[in-house]
Amino acid sequence: MNESKISPRAAAPPSPTRAACPGRTKAGRPCGATPGADGRCPNHSNRFTAEMRSAWGRRGALIGVKYRVEEKLEALAPSLPEPPGDPAPSYATAASVRTYLERMSKRVVDNKLAPSQAGAIAKFAELAIRCAELQLERDTLDLEIAAQERGETPGRRVSMAR
Ligand SMILES: [Zn+2]
Repeated sequence: MNESKISPRAAAPPSPTRAACPGRTKAGRPCGATPGADGRCPNHSNRFTAEMRSAWGRRGALIGVKYRVEEKLEALAPSLPEPPGDPAPSYATAASVRTYLERMSKRVVDNKLAPSQAGAIAKFAELAIRCAELQLERDTLDLEIAAQERGETPGRRVSMAR
């Protein structure tokens, strides 16, 4: 047994009624969040590095941005031209967006679309691309977080052998 490691649980065992993280918030108040296996919440656990927390923060921010772009897309959808008989525009996948844009591009070429309609389509395309970029960014971050959780640091070698 290694006695040099100070366990906070040894000094103050968690309450049997409700376990709480013994860490402190940035404001200096008791954290009180639900602890993990080591008795501390993910924000205060020594298992996680500053890099990992920063990746989580970026992921959270990214999800917020993506959600706002999706909201704009949804708000824009009713203003898109929907010629009778055509399926409603879908931004669910990159492929469905492309299909819609290809169909509408043909109408622009054939002069079957008013300039205002073409403008709405251009805005739709711009948002759909942004949405796809955000999804890609999120997927990349997820991989980065997964690698960090396995103890790997992408782009930098951490020497394990001594
Ligand atoms: Zn905590």
